[in-house]
Amino acid sequence: MLVPERLVRRNGDSTQGVPAVSVVVPVYNEVESLPHLIEAIATTLTASHLSYEIICVDDGSSDGSAQLLKQLAQTRSDLRGVLLRRNYGQTAAMAAGFYYARGRAIVTLDGDLQNDPADIPLLLAKLEEGYDLVSGWRKHRQDAALTRLLPSKIANWLIGRVTGVQLHDYGCSLKAYRSELVADMNLYGELHRFLPALAFIEGARIVELPVRHHARRYGRSKYGLWRTFRVLMDLLTIWFMKRFLTRPMHVFGLLGLLSMILGVLLGGYLSFLKLGLGQSIGNRPLLILAVVLLLTGVQLFSFGLLGELLMRTYHESQGRPIYRVREVIEPVVNNT
Ligand code: UDP
Ligand code: MG
Repeated sequence: MLVPERLVRRNGDSTQGVPAVSVVVPVYNEVESLPHLIEAIATTLTASHLSYEIICVDDGSSDGSAQLLKQLAQTRSDLRGVLLRRNYGQTAAMAAGFYYARGRAIVTLDGDLQNDPADIPLLLAKLEEGYDLVSGWRKHRQDAALTRLLPSKIANWLIGRVTGVQLHDYGCSLKAYRSELVADMNLYGELHRFLPALAFIEGARIVELPVRHHARRYGRSKYGLWRTFRVLMDLLTIWFMKRFLTRPMHVFGLLGLLSMILGVLLGGYLSFLKLGLGQSIGNRPLLILAVVLLLTGVQLFSFGLLGELLMRTYHESQGRPIYRVREVIEPVVNNT
């Protein structure tokens, strides 16, 4: 198996002490759920005889989740806390978790107990069958129908159409990945839900698995209808990237060239009228058109070239995190 370069860099010897699974949990004001969640994950994975680590990323909580994580990490050897400096959003929190995860497989789930840790072994078993990404499908979802389920249905349909990856439930946080897949994905905006789509573009094998879903027991949801809009904007970005961004010169260069050729032809015709036939051309609308076409052509052409340069930079610059970590709490070393 290919070991992601980032893991090698961070841990020196890449193979020593690598757990089978890293469970990544973004946490924003989930102080009541946290102890139950960590206990449930530990119980399930211990019962399945899997080596594991739990990585809880505190996304700038104000309810004491960070303090609780610190406390818990002092007594547990399986818990790593990553505390972000402020609230960056779920996508950034997950990206931070991915960065610190060392496991051969990475499982993500929500910190609010809506996903069921008991499903983790099922996802991992599916991963073992040879898939790169197993995505949970909340078949019986326990959220409000009008404000949550309906927008989500529409969004899922749209995302499927645009990206070409047909999943029932993009929004489900409970997913399992092979670590290589995650290692070189950069996340922005609300892009975590597009991970399957991004992975698909990279040629990953993706499968869907029905999982349990529970109503929220503690705390409140961090999202409202506003999220639907942000998801749509991200979808637009993805669509644009897929269509044009890899070869901007093909679009802008062609348009620019056409415009320039037309401008040159018209200019040539007008020059002939002026110089050859001695006609006055100063008040002809055609002159304005020729000039505009020429200028537009040059601009579009340069725009395409600039776009190409930007894309090179975009693709080649890697490893710029979208978060700043304040502190990483290492697990205590257990010698007993
Ligand atoms: N979350 C986060 N940062 C945020 C918002 C949410 O880390 O800015 C976490 C949150 O703690 C939870 C997960 O992301 O673990 C999903 O959030 P939530 O349960 O509110 O979403 P919902 O289930 O309502 O879609
Ligand atoms: Mg939730």
